[in-house]
Amino acid sequence: MIAEKIQIVAYLFASILFIYSLGGLSSQESAKRGVIYGIVGMLIAVLATVLGPNIKGGYIFIISAISVASVIGVILARKVEMTSMPQLVAILHSFVGLAAVLVGIGSYIEVGEIDHSDPEAGVKHIIHLVEVYLGVFIGAITFTGSIIAWGKLEGKISSKPLLYPGRHMVNLILVVVCIVLGVLFTMDDGSLGMVYLMIMTAIACFIGVMLVMAIGGADMPVVVSMLNSYSGWAASAAGFMLGNDLLIVTGALVGSSGAILSIIMCEAMNRSFFSVIFGGFGAAPAGVAKEIEGEVTALNHEEVATLLKEAKSVVIVPGYGMAVAKAQYPIYSMVQTLRSAGKKVRFAIHPVAGRLPGHMNVLLAEANVPYDIVLEMDEINDDMPDTDVVMVIGANDVVNPGAQDDPSSPIFGMPVIEAWKAEHVIVMKRSMSVGYAGVENPLFYKSNTDMLYGDAKDSVDKILTFLKDK
Ligand code: NDP
Repeated sequence: MIAEKIQIVAYLFASILFIYSLGGLSSQESAKRGVIYGIVGMLIAVLATVLGPNIKGGYIFIISAISVASVIGVILARKVEMTSMPQLVAILHSFVGLAAVLVGIGSYIEVGEIDHSDPEAGVKHIIHLVEVYLGVFIGAITFTGSIIAWGKLEGKISSKPLLYPGRHMVNLILVVVCIVLGVLFTMDDGSLGMVYLMIMTAIACFIGVMLVMAIGGADMPVVVSMLNSYSGWAASAAGFMLGNDLLIVTGALVGSSGAILSIIMCEAMNRSFFSVIFGGFGAAPAGVAKEIEGEVTALNHEEVATLLKEAKSVVIVPGYGMAVAKAQYPIYSMVQTLRSAGKKVRFAIHPVAGRLPGHMNVLLAEANVPYDIVLEMDEINDDMPDTDVVMVIGANDVVNPGAQDDPSSPIFGMPVIEAWKAEHVIVMKRSMSVGYAGVENPLFYKSNTDMLYGDAKDSVDKILTFLKDK
């Protein structure tokens, strides 16, 4: 009895820490604190569960599993590059989905005989079966959807959307079949229940694959946050099956914060939330691609340094290439040099720049760039016409004017940083190759744009040398 009460208090305390953790993660200044709250909360949660009254033995298995998993987790987390974080997140979501499927199947096997002396036993039994069925359904979609998302982010699966006519109808029919199977499952006398559950699991796995396969590259950020949300709901469903309140609360926190993040990302990309849930909204709108006009011109490092020396205001637009090159440190040195020469220098951050929500902010914070010169797209777009030089460093899709003026572009409608409105644009990348969305960028051909080819870090280092040359 006492052990149960201690566990409830510990769960409550852990839940509060998780809420503080989420609150902390909402801004760069408090993010570290948020992570610490999360770690402490999780430690309390695991200890309270393992040492709690529901676990009666089997400690050797639990401790072995936790030890092996912790070692793998530490090795993976230490090894993973910042640029591969989204893939890691996606694969971790798939584990949550798989866990929910396994917990559901295990919990169904364990159901046992209905206690006929309890007048509510029949209702409780049906509620439990619904929990199992829903948990396995959400878990299976999360599991396969996250694996496909991992493959797309890792470049193992093409980022082009896999679209076929009538796919929404096929998905709808499959969902209806799952609902019918669910009714049969809850009414089953125990003879065919496992068969229904297995068929539904296979269908849900297929739905997960098809939903994410239908998403185009540029729309992947929303998918990652959506799968984050699904993984939360899957964990919450597992909590219901296991009768674990903390898992229910934690899952709901992850599920709802993931859903809020998805809505924010949808707004940032001008996409409809429902079209994401149902998948396949990344298709290129019909029509002939707009022909790109203009010529590509390039400058060398010294010429770029001269331009910067003459400029009064400079805006830097970082993208995925900055993360790959780890160029944030020399970029900040360059910014300090320019600022000490009296120039107004600011960063323009697109909400989906890089491969993770907040990716650029994290990298710039790592290099100690002050927060007050790091502005969001909406805060800085209006200043572009008054900017002398925009330096696009390893960014591509987020500065693509086609998003505004080419209805045939897959990223049409997505708000972008209007770099081309500045007096001069320098695009720093290694080649003319496309970004993650796989779309040509007309910005590179504009008369006020010059390319500076090469690795971003190397280029910034060289520009810095020329800037310091009096
Ligand atoms: P992009 O993927 O559009 O472009 C990055 C550019 O960086 C490439 O064109 C590449 O060109 C260049 N690059 C790569 N390595 C280097 C290097 N070492 N030095 C210099 N340049 C380099 O990135 P953006 O940040 O502009 O846009 C993000 C894209 O990713 C969007 O389409 C977004 O939807 C998607 N996405 C975002 C997620 C998020 O949550 N933020 C998650 C998943 C996808 P080159 O090879 O010529 O050097």
